[in-house]
Amino acid sequence: MGSEADPGGGGWRPVKHVRNPWGQVPTTSGGKALPASARAYMTRLEARQVAKDAAGRRHHYVPQTYLRQWSVDGKRIWSLDTVTGAARQLGIADVCVRENFHRVVGPDGAAHNRVELMFQTVDSEIRRVQALYNGLEDPEALQFADLVGLCVSMAVQRMRTAQQRRLRRQHNAWLVAQDPNAFQPIEDDPDHPHREAGFHTRLLFEAMWDAADVLSTRQIEVWDDPHGRFMTCDAPVLVPFVRNRRPSLAVAPYVLWPISPRRTLALSNDPRGAKAVIRSASGKHVGMVRESVAQGRKRMIFASEEHHRKLPVNNLFRRRAQMRLRCAGRTPNGEVIPPPGCCVQFSEVFAAGPDVALCAQGLHRPAPDMARFS
Ligand SMILES: [Zn+2]
Repeated sequence: MGSEADPGGGGWRPVKHVRNPWGQVPTTSGGKALPASARAYMTRLEARQVAKDAAGRRHHYVPQTYLRQWSVDGKRIWSLDTVTGAARQLGIADVCVRENFHRVVGPDGAAHNRVELMFQTVDSEIRRVQALYNGLEDPEALQFADLVGLCVSMAVQRMRTAQQRRLRRQHNAWLVAQDPNAFQPIEDDPDHPHREAGFHTRLLFEAMWDAADVLSTRQIEVWDDPHGRFMTCDAPVLVPFVRNRRPSLAVAPYVLWPISPRRTLALSNDPRGAKAVIRSASGKHVGMVRESVAQGRKRMIFASEEHHRKLPVNNLFRRRAQMRLRCAGRTPNGEVIPPPGCCVQFSEVFAAGPDVALCAQGLHRPAPDMARFS
């Protein structure tokens, strides 16, 4: 099949040779080829599915241990609420949290919190890799399991947020408008109080290894800022917008994850043949993270005590991530669709509301409900 880089379609042409520093193919084949430590991680996750139920109702979608890196006392964090404009210290226990966010209904029809227990296992792996990369001095000492642990942690953290749930609602509102017989709303209603959590968390655990594999062929860069100026937000794994559009994971120049005020992990698509490259962060790196955080947040932005005055309080926060829908004459695999007919392309934009511009061939129905989740 042809592509832009290879219009003749006569096969692949190498453009650059780079050493593979891991000594093995750096993917898990969708979870089928896991190193021993990742298999143990899966075993711990699976054990949680049959564990005794937990009582806690306040579920965090960004772990408190992750946010503690920005806190002086381990309890409070400087926070900018981009809806009210208020910048103040808030309790870490009270941010990025929602009542029953992971409460789901089991096959027996009873609601339970075992998914929250699974996220406690996810959180302890996030804590491990965050500490590992915050303290990393010798990249060659990294093991393959540290790459897999990093990528699965980033993939899960990217998918698990309230921001992702909001974007899924936009997507779902469009599908329901197109064919209400084939699609049902994912939003909770009195008869199905935990429906959305069920959809979201099932999808997440099904997709996690494939999502990790998309990241693990990238170059790990560790951006180190001795001034400790990196900020973070309530959707802390960021795919920066390029000219207000979010590139797909396959072509994004960077996927960013600030892991402390001093360090951001940047997965680049510029392989250097090293397990990780530690770079001294310039003002440009700090600015890129700051802008990605400001544009990628759902609502809250966090900074260290030392740099809280740099929180972007004067920004106008009318825009954030939204669904973008366009008609295409080809499927995602490149197959041409003969008219009349089209394929709707989903992506994300930085905008004030969903960006829908579809053809007028009578194939699509308006979906005004999408805007309810702007
Ligand atoms: Zn169309």
